[in-house]
Parts: sequence; structure tokens; C-alpha cells
Amino acid sequence: MYRAASAGRTVALTFDDGPSQYTGQILDLLAQYGAHATFCQIGPQASARPAAVKRVLAEGHRLCDHTVHHPQPMHTLSHERQAYEIAAAKEMIGEAGGPGTEVAWFRAPGGDFSAENRLIAVQHGMRPLGWSVDTRDWSRPGVASIVAAVQHGLRPGGVVLMHDGGGDRSQTVAALRQLLPWLTTHGYTFDFPAT
Ligand SMILES: [Zn+2]
Repeated sequence: MYRAASAGRTVALTFDDGPSQYTGQILDLLAQYGAHATFCQIGPQASARPAAVKRVLAEGHRLCDHTVHHPQPMHTLSHERQAYEIAAAKEMIGEAGGPGTEVAWFRAPGGDFSAENRLIAVQHGMRPLGWSVDTRDWSRPGVASIVAAVQHGLRPGGVVLMHDGGGDRSQTVAALRQLLPWLTTHGYTFDFPAT
């Protein structure tokens, strides 16, 4: 749940709460460094920006289901409601991406995983996706803080949590601009999370 797929000095970058107006800048940077990442998208935002979803796929990145309404906490919702949040978001992301779109993971909003929502995700063909490094970029702590969280917290095989949606993500973009060359210099290769 917290590991990249391959052994070795790998990192799985993950971006939550998009797609948004910042997704394009993040994709540009990833392309510049030949990096790939996993995007945990909110269903209605995928519906609103199908071109961004298609670009994510076309450039070799992968998709993760991050619910319809981003309910927090999720585990207090009824089973039916949780099933809707997971299944409908997967459908919206799939429609935005076009035929054959794969959504391999599910990430609970705020990491609020429960036995129940993990089971629902598995029943819909997705594996729960956690993280090992929380950059807390959503709180806009400053570019240096986001960069330091990765530089100090990352171990080989780690899964890094960042955000391309949910508000002003200019700090995330600026941090990524520093982190991608740092990761490359330190011998990291970009991987997807374990499935
Ligand atoms: Zn989120």
C-alpha cells in the first residue's frame, strides 16, 4: 500500500485532488525529466477536464480513484454511500480518459482507509494506495518545506504524496521543479505504486 512496484532506488510520485489548472504544469515538468507519476483524481474534476485526463494517459502516467466528493472522514458514511463515492468516480475518470482507461488504485480522502472502503475498492478492481512521504503541500508550507519533506523523508521504494488540485498549487509546481533534478541526481528512478 505504501511501496513502489519495483525493488531498487525507486520512487512513486503521486498527485491528488486534480485534475486542475495546475496539472498541465506538473505534466510539463514530469515530461522534461522523463518521470512518470500516478494521479489520484476526483470524479467530477476528471469529467470537467477530460483533456487533462487524456494527456495523463498519453504521456504514460497512471490513474487512481480519489472519490466523487472527497468526503472526510469517509469511514462514517454508509456502505452504499462509500460504494457510490468509489464506483462513480472510477466511472467518471474512465469516461474522461476514453475507452480502455485503467484506474488501478483507490486512495481514500485524507488517507481515511477502512476495511470497508478497501474492500469496496478491491471489488471494483482497484488496490488501496497510501503513501510513505507526506509533503503537506496542500497546506502551502513554502517551497523549501515541501522539498525538505522529500529530501529527508524519502527512502528507496517510497510513495510521495503531493497535490495537483484543491487550490493554489504553485508551491507544489515550484517544489517539483527542484525535486525532479534532485531525485535524478540521487539515482532515483520513477516507478508506479505496487498493484
Ligand atoms: Zn485528497
